[in-house]
Amino acid sequence: MALNSIEEAYKARTVKSAALLRRAGRSLPGGLTRNYGFHRPYPVVHARGKGPHLWDVDGNRYVDLNYNGLSLIHGHAYGPVTDALARAMPSGWAWLGTQEAQIEFAESLCARIEIFDKVLFTNSGTEAGMLAVKLARGFTKRSLILKANGGYHGTYSDLEAGLHGQGELPGRTLLAEFNDAESFERVIEQHGRSIAAVVLEPVMYTGVVMPALPGFLDRVQRAAHRVGALFVLDDCLMFRLATGGSAEKFGLEPDITFLGKFIGGGLPAGAVGARQEIMDLADPGRTDDGIYHGGSFNGNALSSLAGRIAIEHLTAERIDGMDKAAQRLKQTLEGKAKSVGVPLFVLDEGSVMGLYFSETKPKPGSHLPNEALSARFHLACLNNGVQTGPGCMIAMATVIDEATLAEASAGMSQALADIAP
Ligand code: PMP
Repeated sequence: MALNSIEEAYKARTVKSAALLRRAGRSLPGGLTRNYGFHRPYPVVHARGKGPHLWDVDGNRYVDLNYNGLSLIHGHAYGPVTDALARAMPSGWAWLGTQEAQIEFAESLCARIEIFDKVLFTNSGTEAGMLAVKLARGFTKRSLILKANGGYHGTYSDLEAGLHGQGELPGRTLLAEFNDAESFERVIEQHGRSIAAVVLEPVMYTGVVMPALPGFLDRVQRAAHRVGALFVLDDCLMFRLATGGSAEKFGLEPDITFLGKFIGGGLPAGAVGARQEIMDLADPGRTDDGIYHGGSFNGNALSSLAGRIAIEHLTAERIDGMDKAAQRLKQTLEGKAKSVGVPLFVLDEGSVMGLYFSETKPKPGSHLPNEALSARFHLACLNNGVQTGPGCMIAMATVIDEATLAEASAGMSQALADIAP
C-alpha cells in the first residue's frame, strides 16, 4: 500500500480528530501539550479507555500498546483503582502534611525495593530525576552528573544534555555512550572526584529501545563507586521488569533509584528512594545543611492510593505473563515480516520492545534506522486498530489477555502487509 493510501485511509477514519486538532492549535502550541504525543499528519484525539483498549473521538477502537508512555501497567480505568478512588474522593485529596494513604504507599515501595530505606514523593518522573540529582549533589558535595548520550530522564535541563541537539553542559553534565563501558570509564577517570552521580536507565527507551549488553551496567556502577560517585538508577519505566525493579533483574546495587510512570496507578506520581543516610538529607527537622524538598501535591491521597494498589497488584506472575505475551507478539511479527519481505529487527527486554526496519541491529540513540518506514508502519497500525508509541515502541499491560493479544497480532500483521514493498 503506498504512503498516500495509508495516510488517506488514516485521514478518512479520523475526521473528528482532525477538526479537534485544528481547534486545539488555536490555544495549544501545535495542538498538544507534550512533544511525545505528536506525529504526522496529526495524532488522534482519544475519548476513553477501558482495560487494554482506547477509543478515539471518531469511535475507532485500538488495542493500546503504549499505555500513556508506559504509565498504566494495569490498562485503562483499572477496576480496583477506579473503585478505591471513588470511595476515597468524597474525603478530599490534598492536604498539607502526611496522611495514611501516603504512609502506606511509602511502606509498600520500601518493602519492594531492596535499597529503599526511605522514599520521597514527587508528581512526575522529571521531578523525581531532579530530586535524585539534588540528593546526589547534596550528599557528595560535588556538582557533575554523568549520563548516556541520548538517554531520556524527563525534561529537567541538567538531564536533557545529549538530547534534542544539546551536548554536554559545562560544569553540570557530562556524556558517555550507552553500552560502551569504556567510554563511561574514561570520563569517570578524567573527572573522578568531581562527579556526584552517574545516572542511567537500565534499558534505554529513547528513540531506539536498547537493552544493556551483559556486564555494561555493572561495570559503570563499579567505576562510579571507585571515585565515590553515586550510581543513580532511573527505573521510571523498567521497574516493570521484576517485583523489585530492574536492580533485582540485573543484580545492581544503585545508591539512589527514582521512579515515575505507573507507580501512580495512572495518576501523576514520582518517587525517589535510597539508604537512610542519603534520604535523611531531606529530613525537614534537621538543623544542618540538608536539602529542601517541596511540592504541593507530593504524595497526595489519590495518587498514593492508586499507586499503592497498582504496585501491590504487579505480582511476579503478572510480570511473567506480560513478558510471555511480548515474546509471542515478537515471534508473530518476525514471522510475518519475513513472509511479506519487510526487514524487521526487534529489540526487546521483558515486556517492552522496539520494532525497527533494518537488517542490522540499530544503534542506541534517537535516530531510527528507517524513519519513513517506521512512520508508515505506525500509521498503518492505527488504521488496523493498534496504537504503538510513535517510533514503534511497544509495551504490554497486565490486562492483555489471549483475545487482545490475537487482536493486536492480527492488526500489526496486516500493518506489516500494508507497508510491504
Ligand atoms: N525517565 C524515563 C526513563 C522516562 O521514560 C520518562 C518519561 N518518558 C521520565 C523519566 C520522565 O517522566 P515524566 O514524564 O513523568 O516526567
